Amino acid sequence: MGEVVLAVDIGGTKTAAALADRTGALLRVEVAATPAAEGRAAVVATVVALAVRLLADTGQRLAGVGIGTAGVVDSGAGTIVSATDTFADWPGTDVAGLIRAGLGDLLRPGALIVVQNDVDAHAAGEYRHGAAAGAASALVVAVGTGVGGGLILDGRAVRGAHHVAGEIAHIPTPGADHLRCPCGRVGHLEAIGSGIGMHRHFIVLGGDPAIADARGIAAAASAGDRTARRALEESAAAVGRALAAAATLVDPERIVITGGVPNIGDAWWRPMLDAFHAEAIDALQNTPILPGVLGDDAPLRGAAASAWRNP
Ligand SMILES: [Zn+2]
Repeated sequence: MGEVVLAVDIGGTKTAAALADRTGALLRVEVAATPAAEGRAAVVATVVALAVRLLADTGQRLAGVGIGTAGVVDSGAGTIVSATDTFADWPGTDVAGLIRAGLGDLLRPGALIVVQNDVDAHAAGEYRHGAAAGAASALVVAVGTGVGGGLILDGRAVRGAHHVAGEIAHIPTPGADHLRCPCGRVGHLEAIGSGIGMHRHFIVLGGDPAIADARGIAAAASAGDRTARRALEESAAAVGRALAAAATLVDPERIVITGGVPNIGDAWWRPMLDAFHAEAIDALQNTPILPGVLGDDAPLRGAAASAWRNP
């Protein structure tokens, strides 16, 4: 085993960690439950324990560490700006500093520790190794329980002055005026375009309350439930509209869509693409909109890339 870095993906329920080589290949992967409710020390201890397990018997020390984590991240400082209530005590955490102290001698002298938002790490993975590989710029959007986005322009991850560049979730989106977004405002993309948003919209439309989630809505729609079909199509169209808005502003070479909701398949993709093409100006009509290809490996591969100082 040559030089290795540690790649970490800290999610709300599980934390994955891997050793990666210079090519970005994941050599070993370990997963543990994230003790999100127990506070920052427990989360950091989980990452350190995974690193110890990964390095056992290798005789290696880490050339760098890349971390993708839930929450808004000040990547320059390696700290958490804000996070959802799932993570007790996470806002304000100096992730880079605590991980550096926890890893101690497992780090080589001068090892870089890069912390970024998990969707930004996901975007970096798809950009370096996945559906956007070879493109100069990409907008990567994750549509799942929530909506997230990461933006890479001319080979550089764009973080923004307030650490929220690429956060397409909070673009005001026609068709969502009756729905409240997790940020507290109404009418944003996430309020209708996420899996939870699709379900809220379905209930507002008078859908069967026995149907519990987006997957259930998709099944009902394919079985002929007209309310389910309408909720699914309007949710997907909202994503397409917001993508047209984002593409107009930054003109990415490719748009990559990941997350659980796009897995619904053609019943979601068709209205999403139709809405994009209805809104986007002529110059943007041929922008490729592609499914992500790396799945759960994407944030780890992106975190590894950042540890090697790639975007
Ligand atoms: Zn919002």
